[in-house]
Amino acid sequence: MARTRGFSINLAERCIVITGGNRGIGLAISQACAKAGARVAIIYRSSRDADKVAQDIAKDTGTQCQAYQCDVSDTDLVVKTLKRIDSEMGPITGLVANAGVSVVKPALELTKDDFEKVYNVNVLGVFNTARAAAELWVKQEHQGGSIVITASMSSQIINQAGTNKPLTQVFYNSSKAAVSNLVKGVAAEWAGHGIRVNALSPGYVETDQTSGMDQKIRDYQATHLPLGRFAKPHEMAPMALLLLSEHASYMTGQEYFVDGGQLVY
Ligand code: NDP
Repeated sequence: MARTRGFSINLAERCIVITGGNRGIGLAISQACAKAGARVAIIYRSSRDADKVAQDIAKDTGTQCQAYQCDVSDTDLVVKTLKRIDSEMGPITGLVANAGVSVVKPALELTKDDFEKVYNVNVLGVFNTARAAAELWVKQEHQGGSIVITASMSSQIINQAGTNKPLTQVFYNSSKAAVSNLVKGVAAEWAGHGIRVNALSPGYVETDQTSGMDQKIRDYQATHLPLGRFAKPHEMAPMALLLLSEHASYMTGQEYFVDGGQLVY
């Protein structure tokens, strides 16, 4: 059972699917869900150690945790994989659509391949997994199901990846703005089936995605954040757990920022 101040979040009897759940923010959410008692299915693309990561979580928490290889941009494979998880570990009760990629290049150098690389995962991949989960719940007349989509504070602002001249990750930022709007649309359409959909939007988090940033840029960014530092991945987990739990039974169609105050600055 995961405890926060004042109340605890218990996900026992739940089965949560987490895309990109083997690394970074997704891994922190996988670990927190397992600690809260959920059975956890991790979807990954190509990491070699995903099975070992899942075994370690299962060993540490005593719950069931398994890794499934699936490229979220492959619509048919996503449907098959969610059905497989549902029959092997389910019924699935929650999804964290978290897998995401970025291309950092000046806008004048971006190509169609770069566009497809980013949008096929960050937008199509998110939609594929969300729809596959919703379809399962609607077909099974399962009243309920919570979907948490990892967007980004860059859905709202142009985050700066350069120090002295603008470098803004145009495709990444715009893909996150797309997802922020997608959340509202599917939340409205699926609410009648008892399905809640929300976005968790992190600020800068110390993961592989940000480890490639130039140290000068990291320092510049960190000192310009109200909390003065990047987040640790585990600092994203409480919001995901809350949105997956029954405590969030009246929360849908919203975007929740966990960004160290970046958006107010
Ligand atoms: P990481 O780069 O650390 O990990 C990315 C994860 O996504 C990996 O598990 C990877 O699997 C998986 N993945 C990538 N492409 C696919 C695919 N096609 N199919 C299935 N899985 C895939 O990411 P972060 O933890 O940093 O980010 C997680 C989410 O949070 C992303 O959506 C990101 O955009 C968002 N975010 C991150 C921020 C940050 O500062 N780090 C800030 C704001 C938002 P594999 O290991 O197999 O490659």
